[in-house]
Amino acid sequence: THFGFKTVAEEEKAGMVHGVFTSVASRYDLMNDLMSMGVHRVWKDAMMDWLAPRPHQRLLDVAGGTGDISFRFLKRAPGASAVVLDMTESMLVEGRKRAEAAQMSASLDWVAGDGMALPFGDNSFDVFTNSFGTRNITRIQDALNEAYRVLRPGGRMMILEFSQLPNPVMQWAYDRYSFNVIPPLGKLVADDRDSYQYLVESIRKFPDQETFAGMIRNAGFEQVKYRNMSMGIVALHSGWKL
Ligand code: SAM
Repeated sequence: THFGFKTVAEEEKAGMVHGVFTSVASRYDLMNDLMSMGVHRVWKDAMMDWLAPRPHQRLLDVAGGTGDISFRFLKRAPGASAVVLDMTESMLVEGRKRAEAAQMSASLDWVAGDGMALPFGDNSFDVFTNSFGTRNITRIQDALNEAYRVLRPGGRMMILEFSQLPNPVMQWAYDRYSFNVIPPLGKLVADDRDSYQYLVESIRKFPDQETFAGMIRNAGFEQVKYRNMSMGIVALHSGWKL
């Protein structure tokens, strides 16, 4: 971008992503279970195991959607609080309903906003998470820089995202599954083939583990590490603001 203006392509991507998640919001949780055959729950639990939430920490969960990560965090950390930020209001609406049903509303805030320009001051959170939202963000480096800015010194960042499989045969098989199964399933369950076609393509385009780790370092994070899960279908990246 030049002079702070967004390019047409960037506007289009953000608008399209917003459209995709507005259209899937009411079935988002169900589709997650179907498409991953329930495994997204295992990945999210593994993220919590590595993150090890502590009592009274304050979490910012960017692209938090319907709150999966924040709920898990709060269950493991007595006295903790979480802010779920997402650009799609209807995802937050679904999350709020779940929070009320689980009687967890008191420790949660739901904020409509953009991960590339966070509406929070510097050094305001102990922990930053983003689960399966980074690849939807138009300018990933901006979002990482913002994560660094709002974390306090000593704060921890952890990102769960689809990644690339180091084994080319497995990557081939996985691509066949993604492109042949996911869009038709989206058509069947949500009557929305295009949204799921977009999701599959966005997964394929996301930088590999090492490239993404480099971007996290560029934002200022230290002790950047990652772990592959399910052969690299997803990766967990961790970094510290020191
Ligand atoms: N974190 C949740 C989870 O793991 O189930 C939801 C992930 S969902 C696949 C991706 C979310 O990213 C969507 O809710 C979408 O609205 C949000 N999103 C995309 N671009 C964003 C941006 N620039 N700022 C904030 N949220 C964004």
